[in-house]
Amino acid sequence: MRVLLVGGAGYIGSHVALRLSERGHIPVIYDNFSTGHRRFVDRFEVIHGEMADYECLRHFLKDIDAVMHFAAKACVGESVSMPREYYATNMTDALTLLNATVDAGIGKFIFSSSCAVYGAPERLPITETTPRCPLSAYGHTKAAFEDALKSYSAAYGLKFVALRYFNAAGADESGMLGELRSTETHLIPLVLKAASGQSAEVSIFGNDYETPDGTCIRDYIHVNDLASAHVNALDLLIHKEESDVFNLGTGIGFSVLEVISAAEEVSSLPVRRLVLPRRPGDSPVLICDGTYAKNRLHWYPQRGLTEILRTAWRWQISNTAVEQAIVC
Ligand code: UDP
Repeated sequence: MRVLLVGGAGYIGSHVALRLSERGHIPVIYDNFSTGHRRFVDRFEVIHGEMADYECLRHFLKDIDAVMHFAAKACVGESVSMPREYYATNMTDALTLLNATVDAGIGKFIFSSSCAVYGAPERLPITETTPRCPLSAYGHTKAAFEDALKSYSAAYGLKFVALRYFNAAGADESGMLGELRSTETHLIPLVLKAASGQSAEVSIFGNDYETPDGTCIRDYIHVNDLASAHVNALDLLIHKEESDVFNLGTGIGFSVLEVISAAEEVSSLPVRRLVLPRRPGDSPVLICDGTYAKNRLHWYPQRGLTEILRTAWRWQISNTAVEQAIVC
């Protein structure tokens, strides 16, 4: 299948493009390169375009069989202080993509949703039927776009899969792809920067949560495990033609302090820490129940936290110079 990956030059999209091509599909990358990287996708067909550009999308959707949508602003804390930007990209522009997809007669759509739709659930682990109750503008935009998909599916016959990622992390084992941002806000790359001496320390956003060590707990899922879930989701749409929603995580939670200790072990270097107040919009604990994805998507995460940190550390070490050039 020819699959248009909107935002395909970014962290998750580029890993998915690689898995799709390995499994016999043809990824076509559509990206505005505001945060994506050409070198991540230079072996594929690439279109430089805006998600807000309906005409451009319509032109390139002509010979496409399925759409995967990765182009989003995705920092929980930032979304609380800049909701306008989040609604503009994650809702307004994303709806342009959805309209163009439907108007082009394409019936398969895979959406990068997030565990942020759940907020602070009362029961753990989190299943797909756990009530959605977002705490941040980011989570709200993801939930709202899921709702749009449901309405479009009912009215226009579009079939979709929404994949609610838990915390994506790690890098491709080849060492060619990984997290690379001019401003980093995610825990694992920041901890590894502190280990490598690229930053003085890592901040801990709150140590007064009701968790065993007082810091937030997350379910970290390797980006290549996420990538294979997308290929399985496409298979599901091809063979079953039914819309569905899946949680993607390992079912194991780690606190911020546990992540820091594991990173010290993998890098064999100490990480200095600084405790700061809680970050607005953060849920105390998010842990996935992946039973439904196992049963219906036949998806089994293969890698744990150590493998996430090993691949991310390798990536961090080999890309320090590139990263500094981007920041400058
Ligand atoms: N976090 C932290 N220090 C940082 C970045 C993140 O303590 O410099 C915490 C954050 O508060 C959350 C967890 O690490 O509890 C994961 O945050 P991240 O931004 O990586 O992903 P999110 O869960 O927000 O999608």
